[in-house]
Amino acid sequence: MADVDPVALTQALIRRPSVTPKDEGALGVLEDVLKPLGFTCHRLLFTEPGTPDIDNLYARWGTGGPHFCFAGHMDVVPVGDLKGWTVDPFGGEIVDGHLYGRGASDMKGAVAAFTAAASGFLRKRGADFKGSISLLITGDEEGPAINGTAKMLKWVAARNEKIDACVVGEPSNETSMGDMIKIGRRGSVNYALTVAGMQGHEAFPHLADTPNHRLVKMLAALTEPELDKGNEWFQQSSLQVTSIDVGNPAHNVIPATARASINIRFNDQHSSESLTKWLRKRLDEVGGRYDLQIQVSGESFLTKPGSLSDLVSNAAAAVTGRNARLSTTGGTSDARFICNYAPVVEFGLISRTMHKVDERAAVADIRSLTAIYGGILDRFFS
Ligand SMILES: [Zn+2]
Repeated sequence: MADVDPVALTQALIRRPSVTPKDEGALGVLEDVLKPLGFTCHRLLFTEPGTPDIDNLYARWGTGGPHFCFAGHMDVVPVGDLKGWTVDPFGGEIVDGHLYGRGASDMKGAVAAFTAAASGFLRKRGADFKGSISLLITGDEEGPAINGTAKMLKWVAARNEKIDACVVGEPSNETSMGDMIKIGRRGSVNYALTVAGMQGHEAFPHLADTPNHRLVKMLAALTEPELDKGNEWFQQSSLQVTSIDVGNPAHNVIPATARASINIRFNDQHSSESLTKWLRKRLDEVGGRYDLQIQVSGESFLTKPGSLSDLVSNAAAAVTGRNARLSTTGGTSDARFICNYAPVVEFGLISRTMHKVDERAAVADIRSLTAIYGGILDRFFS
């Protein structure tokens, strides 16, 4: 069995332009590497009306326990301004020790590194290895995340497969390999608030009902109080009014409606449900007719520092010599779904160029991530 080269595999994956919701053969490239290693591969196509069909891959080596899962995504964000790129975003070129391309750091490089680490581990442990290693790779992380990880986890659980620990390969490090592990993420919820009034002549306000004044009072009621003080592992939750729209060009008209958009990034002291309840109470106190549309991007999660974060820290320190900071910063990730099934942390490449033009990963970092993932498997199964 030949060793898997994580750099060549990253290049091969980048050359498949799998911009959400397309796969373009990327999962097949990975499957062709995993099958000869002894992984049982399941392609999971999930569909839902109104959303694009998504191809996903669940691959598991072994049937015994304990079961370690690597979770990641094969989809990438669009290239953005093509003229801003100095190389072909889907060429997989190496320039001055850096592998360029969309997905290099987020996160085809990490998928390839884990695959190489698993192949090295299985070769080393050979026939007496009784545990299980799986890869749960979605094509719907950068998109709506409806036909991806959440449904895959349900599918896995329905087969009575239990995951004992999970690492998500998101680019968790800030500037150097081994500087940060994510043990949680804040949640995010969006609200569209529409305040209804009655249109009329501005000089005859008693014949109309201006929604603007109530909207201003409502927004004041929402923005004045602190949501919390933050805690040991999370920064303070934050409510931001991202837009206020009335769209009224006339000086002498009271408009019929006024709208505002609100986003809350929240820590583990809240849920989207508790926040919505809080919001409605404040809005009701101001009074009058309003409509509130709610869109939950994700709940917050926290894997309390403990055996899994220690294990990943130790594996990273052994390769990089750095002591990783445990952090909950950044946007949401699919770990928000996984936390309902298994302890989960995020560790991958460096985040600096993700989603940007000229996304890239140092070849040396892809190799050191492979060594770190190998160290995680060694420690987990020791
Ligand atoms: Zn990502």
